[in-house]
Amino acid sequence: MRGMLDTIAESLPILLVPDPTLRAKSLPVGPRDTDTVRGLLPRMFATMYDAPGIGLAAPQIGQKLRFIVVDIQPNETRQPIALINPEIIARSSDLATREEGCLSLPGQFAEITRPALVKVRYLDETGARREIEANGLLAACLQHEIDHLDGVLFVDHLSALKRNMILRRLAKELRQKRDEDR
Ligand SMILES: [Zn+2]
Repeated sequence: MRGMLDTIAESLPILLVPDPTLRAKSLPVGPRDTDTVRGLLPRMFATMYDAPGIGLAAPQIGQKLRFIVVDIQPNETRQPIALINPEIIARSSDLATREEGCLSLPGQFAEITRPALVKVRYLDETGARREIEANGLLAACLQHEIDHLDGVLFVDHLSALKRNMILRRLAKELRQKRDEDR
């Protein structure tokens, strides 16, 4: 099973804010999407590891479909997890705050508060039904990536003031980078 994920795959361009695809609600993966998803998963992992990041959602590579990849220890013994149609079925009332960033908002970070524990139901890459209970970094990562499937970004969990500050700073930094690259 690891075999598929170990395949050498080419990474894909990552969409950046304010690309409208990042704000769209993604559709459930259905039987007719299976080939698309199986074809994209190795490339999603490659893109995530190359970035480098610990999670990537399909909308970030321009696919409005509900699947994500995560690996919270990409530099050690890799633990790739592909989650198709992931759904949070339980969340703790306990909250946890950690610093988050996003490959679609490069260089931007903020402290985000979310439920400390979540239970997620999903299909794995073979189509088998699975559940995962997560805490710590994995819980935050899963919630962050599943948010992407509903067009929600980590900055949406901040006050409008903080959010706009980050979005303005990102726009300015991307503009400067474009000017430098010219
Ligand atoms: Zn993200």
